[in-house]
Amino acid sequence: MLNISVHSINLIKPITIYYTNNVGIYHIIYLNLLKKNITMNKNSKEIRCSFCGAGKQDSLMLIAGLDAHICDKCVNQANEILAEELKVRKVKTSPSAPAVLKPYEIKSHLDQYVIGQDDAKKILSVAVYNHYKRLNQRIDKDEVEIEKSNIIMVGETGTGKTLLAKTLAKVLNVPFCICDATVLTEAGYVGEDVESILTRLLQSADYDVATAEKGIVYIDEVDKIARKSDNASITRDVSGEGVQQALLKILEGTMVNVPPQGGRKHPDQKMITVNTSNILFICGGAFDGIEKKIANRLRTQTVGYKLKGNDTEVDLKNLYKYITPQDLKSFGLIPELIGRLPVLTYLNPLDREALHNILTEPKNSLLKQYKKLFEYEGVKLDFDDDVLEFIVDKAMEFKLGARGLRSICEAIMIDAMFEFPSKKDVKKLNITLDYAREKFDKSDLKKLKVA
Ligand code: ADP
Repeated sequence: MLNISVHSINLIKPITIYYTNNVGIYHIIYLNLLKKNITMNKNSKEIRCSFCGAGKQDSLMLIAGLDAHICDKCVNQANEILAEELKVRKVKTSPSAPAVLKPYEIKSHLDQYVIGQDDAKKILSVAVYNHYKRLNQRIDKDEVEIEKSNIIMVGETGTGKTLLAKTLAKVLNVPFCICDATVLTEAGYVGEDVESILTRLLQSADYDVATAEKGIVYIDEVDKIARKSDNASITRDVSGEGVQQALLKILEGTMVNVPPQGGRKHPDQKMITVNTSNILFICGGAFDGIEKKIANRLRTQTVGYKLKGNDTEVDLKNLYKYITPQDLKSFGLIPELIGRLPVLTYLNPLDREALHNILTEPKNSLLKQYKKLFEYEGVKLDFDDDVLEFIVDKAMEFKLGARGLRSICEAIMIDAMFEFPSKKDVKKLNITLDYAREKFDKSDLKKLKVA
């Protein structure tokens, strides 16, 4: 709210308006009074706007002050001037970057939403913290320059890669965007150019280039741009290796011309130049089938699945743990790209316990979400413990990670969600195992089981 007060009106001199905003910033605006109008006002009884001279019949409304009047048009104009002025001030007075969160704090925030995956959380927290440090570094002549270390996350689908990135975005105070590698193609081919990644970042920074240049980009499904080894040699691999080549420069740090509205570049378009050397890139992908490559490598390096040098057995259920850049290379990422993603981390497959926890523990867990939905209808929703076990069993069967949980819950809850808004007198709903089983068996999901 603005408190505008007409401080002094001198009929010949410009009018001075003081205003204070709610944080007490003073500002002054001068508006010239038309001498002609003043004379007119003095000589005649007719009321006119003291700013533009409009009479009663020319304006919607004339507001009276102590010794002057103002019409609706001038009020609007003054308002626009104020808004414009305040915008400039806001930019100038906006506080510098808020306190940087420590890696521990970043991780504990991630813990509220993402179950398990401690290694990945730690690596991400440290990487983001170091990213901030880099941004605040003033490089003197002989000071050590901290280089950025882009990250690659590998893990089965539905284990929380995107969730980690999204949750991270909430704590960060740098622009952040998530984009998908599957839509990218080599320049000149149908699909999006790699520069479109930066368009998203620019959008999330409100087209403020300097801010965008300090942002973080999460590229999802990076495994889908792996080189296709069975590609016939006469055709170019425009959505695979071609995209990897195009990404190299951007990941490393270069000046990129970005089309402001995204999409394909064309010659007449106005471009925004973005320097990517301070942008942190996090890539994620399921790398389906990479376990076989890891197993092959381990088999050749070790005898009977025992790691070299120590006696620990290889954890066959979670081969992702042993992933190395070499495996990414045999999967089809080109060595140059792997080199530009020096931090490699993995996500564990979700076991029964993790799935159970995902259902109940996170701040916005699935069950909490359903409870909230029913709360809006004035209904108290409860689940029996064996229903949770049932949901977890089915999710394990489908092998869709945590993603399966949602569709199973939805199959169980859909009838209740359909009927309850019209039932006025029921205030409580308890989901029992029999109810859950009946609804699930009725649903189309059951057919999936065969596979
Ligand atoms: P992906 O690894 O394929 O990117 P997502 O992060 O999109 O998987 O996960 C899909 C959904 O599964 C998420 O929206 C989230 O609700 C749930 N989920 C997956 N992993 C976890 C986890 N570790 N903790 C909590 N929820 C999870």
